Amino acid sequence: MNGRLAIGIDIGHTNLRAGLVDQTGAVRDVIRERTDISGGPEGVLEQIVRSAELLRGKHEVAGIGVGIAGQCDIARGVVRCGPNLFWPDVPLQQWLNEEMKLPVILRNDVVMATVGEWRYGAGRGCHELVMLLVGTGIGGGAVVNGKLLQGATGCGGHFGHISVQMDGPLCGCGRPGCVEAYASGSGLATRAREDPCLSSSMLANTLRLDGMAVAQAALAGDPLALRLRDEAATALSSAVSNVINCFNPQRVILGGAVLNGLTQLFDLTVRGAMEQCLPSHRDHLEMKNIELGDLSGIIGAASWVHYPL
Ligand SMILES: [Zn+2]
Repeated sequence: MNGRLAIGIDIGHTNLRAGLVDQTGAVRDVIRERTDISGGPEGVLEQIVRSAELLRGKHEVAGIGVGIAGQCDIARGVVRCGPNLFWPDVPLQQWLNEEMKLPVILRNDVVMATVGEWRYGAGRGCHELVMLLVGTGIGGGAVVNGKLLQGATGCGGHFGHISVQMDGPLCGCGRPGCVEAYASGSGLATRAREDPCLSSSMLANTLRLDGMAVAQAALAGDPLALRLRDEAATALSSAVSNVINCFNPQRVILGGAVLNGLTQLFDLTVRGAMEQCLPSHRDHLEMKNIELGDLSGIIGAASWVHYPL
């Protein structure tokens, strides 16, 4: 190891965060920006390098951990499906290594966030753990028998693509009825736009119809937004109970801007999932909110540099 600090980068569909993190998981410095996808993968690379250079300054840094919203081919260090969903295979690990002259580790963003919560947040001390983050998309991660689930190709834990309705709306992945199509920020916005009741909803006059707009409308009592919230809760309850039935976890960690921003969605999801999962799986099961806020991704990614998995 070349130093006591590492850089963690968290590239979501909407937000990009970069942080300088020490070996205890403490964030020394953080940069938050919106992910700028207008310049394609090369533009996002420039954004990452600019942030990483600023954070590095004169510090000795051991390496960079990167979590990105998409599927990563971990054998090749390639992002297979990046934030704007138009990226072809992007060798982000190699690009960043060449730019920064530092070791780079690349994984899915919610896998990195799961590592952060497991080591320093709501998952501390847990050997059987699953996590779902509901933001612009829905991602997941799992710890099984004390080890991070990675899967044969590094893509384990994509719980957002659990289908909860065989003839449901099309998801961004091309299949019908994924929970992401109902409950993610992008799914909620699409469903609002396509709803026959849109014209009588306050969402009809929203300039930027996204998940946050649905959350604000629900808080104001808008009937369409509240119905979409209820449908999202039903879909999430089903998906989370499926995950519980498959993994038999000690703890389920839920979070993300939509789950915590859309009124009552967290409580409705917890109640629904507890009701629907197998009774044998309910005993000793805890369901918790994330503890590290929007920093779990950078803390997890940097900790991977300090303590490889
Ligand atoms: Zn899907």
